[in-house]
Amino acid sequence: LTVDYRVMLEKGEQIVKAMRIVSKLFENAKIVFGIEDNKSDSIKVINGFIKPDDKMDICQLKTKYPQGGERSLIYAVTGRKINSHMLPADAKCIVINASTAYAIYNALYENLPLIHRYMTVSGEGVNNCNNFKVPIGMSQKDVIEAAGGLKPEVCKVIAGGPMTGSAMGNLDVPVQKTSSGIIAFTFDDVAAMNQSNCIHCGKCMSVCPSNLVPQMLCKAVKENDTDRFESLGGMECVQCGCCSYVCPAKIPLTGMFIMGKAEVKSKAKRNGGAK
Ligand code: SF4
Ligand code: SF4
Repeated sequence: LTVDYRVMLEKGEQIVKAMRIVSKLFENAKIVFGIEDNKSDSIKVINGFIKPDDKMDICQLKTKYPQGGERSLIYAVTGRKINSHMLPADAKCIVINASTAYAIYNALYENLPLIHRYMTVSGEGVNNCNNFKVPIGMSQKDVIEAAGGLKPEVCKVIAGGPMTGSAMGNLDVPVQKTSSGIIAFTFDDVAAMNQSNCIHCGKCMSVCPSNLVPQMLCKAVKENDTDRFESLGGMECVQCGCCSYVCPAKIPLTGMFIMGKAEVKSKAKRNGGAK
């Protein structure tokens, strides 16, 4: 999804203006623009609008995945760690993405509420991949039509990013304020996978940004052992999809952990608490 990248390129001045106001709301606040080092044009644009007396800086981040989540960004920029029980404020941070910063500009300078989203429509199954400014509430089907529609051979459409998005059963659903993109595939890699047993290769563990042991979490989910899932740190899973991606046994680990987390939360609710 390239939408935040385009917003930075085309609305850089507005983003810097919005963040200048945000910085005045917090005493001693410093604004850090965390931008991956493969986006040198965005870095140049943002840098061009920062004035010498702004308490603003650009932190060039190593290009890697996952990097965009709050926890990853806070760690990459400040070295501070937060877990699932903490808020960014616990690390004395607020994380605002490019589109949100632009929405702040619109609210403060143009008196415009959040009525549009910028979305990427992409994938080999789309006729004209592009980024769009979309009214919130518009049917995602119409957004796809704006991109020239789907090719006949499309077999799967997902809402969201390639690693974290979810398959859409119905395209006629409204764009929400959290919608970021639509990707259409002409080949369903997941359906074509032949799942086998875990071979204990440890690859999932080596890529987990939350330092979890996915093969053990997987066992806990299979055995419906929510206590063990929790004690193994399952709630710290950020659902990045890296473990599923590298698993040679093609085990849908991330999907299992989404279920495991939901089960821990519903169990806590049943017991009168909250997670
Ligand atoms: S999805 Fe897998 S790799 Fe990503 S945080 Fe969760 S367990 Fe770790
Ligand atoms: S990557 Fe897959 S096969 Fe390897 S240890 Fe993890 S779950 Fe098992």
